[in-house]
Amino acid sequence: MGYSKEIYRLAQQELDRRRNTARDTAEKHQAEIYSAIPRIREIQKELADSGLRAVQAAIYGGPNSPQALSSLRIKNQALQMERVKLLESARLPADFLEVHYTCPKCQDTGYIINRRCECLEKLLRRFAYRQVSESGGLGECRFENFLLSYYPDIPNQDGKIPRKIMAGILNSCQEYARNFLPNGESLLFRGHTGLGKTHLSLAIAYEAIEKGYGVYYASSQRLLDKLQAKQFQRQAKEDTDYQEMAENCDLLILDDLGAEYSTNFTVAALQNLINVRLTESRPTIVSTNLNTSMLTERYGERSVSRLLCSYRAFTFCGDDIRMIKRMEH
Ligand SMILES: [Zn+2]
Repeated sequence: MGYSKEIYRLAQQELDRRRNTARDTAEKHQAEIYSAIPRIREIQKELADSGLRAVQAAIYGGPNSPQALSSLRIKNQALQMERVKLLESARLPADFLEVHYTCPKCQDTGYIINRRCECLEKLLRRFAYRQVSESGGLGECRFENFLLSYYPDIPNQDGKIPRKIMAGILNSCQEYARNFLPNGESLLFRGHTGLGKTHLSLAIAYEAIEKGYGVYYASSQRLLDKLQAKQFQRQAKEDTDYQEMAENCDLLILDDLGAEYSTNFTVAALQNLINVRLTESRPTIVSTNLNTSMLTERYGERSVSRLLCSYRAFTFCGDDIRMIKRMEH
């Protein structure tokens, strides 16, 4: 699966907007020039008529059709020259009356025959990342702006140096993103709030999206709200199927597992989601503030041991960066 329906809708909307703007501008130019230089309207009409006659000559053929076509061509060239001169005299470019598309290759339709145009690919990536980072609520999170200097370089009470540990985690995440595959490993980010778990998840998301993979990011609370709404059909006309998207996207990022309001439904839905993705070998990045015993208490031993055995786990350490940043301001 690539992008969600919503992302396609946004990209299509942008293409429609570009196309309409290009056509409206051309129409406006036409109206302006017709009132300023009426001869141009006549030229346009003659060109359209001779175009039609050329098509007829080409289709119906006949003994005189080669001569007819060549005289039409000569007449067309003369008309076009006249139009250029008239535009020049009004200090306007020769292509003033043409439609200027943002992407001339696909004329802002997004497709070249049946293939997606580069401009559409670019739009899809842009909207996908915007959606992901907006739901992350952290703005632009990249590897480049993940600052190791926020992590202490003196040993903590466990004798570990946070900066060194985090440098290793950063490195592994960069490598993971660089080699990302939609049947690759799943990751588990553990540690207290404000240690950069969401930041690194979003940095991986950015790179996967850049490679054209479909990424769905949600906090566990938000995703469960969506799934629950669907369950009780409160959103019958919802155009995005969140369950389908969460199960089938190339990379699912489930942020803040354990912070959701817990019910039998939420526990079962999360167990199901994690199982489906493991069975189908689709990668998931789960981040959580909870330790193993708290996770077990919530989701049961079987699910938690599955999570711990099948996911590659990283334990983040250091001091709460959000607090440090707040104190700096
Ligand atoms: Zn294009």
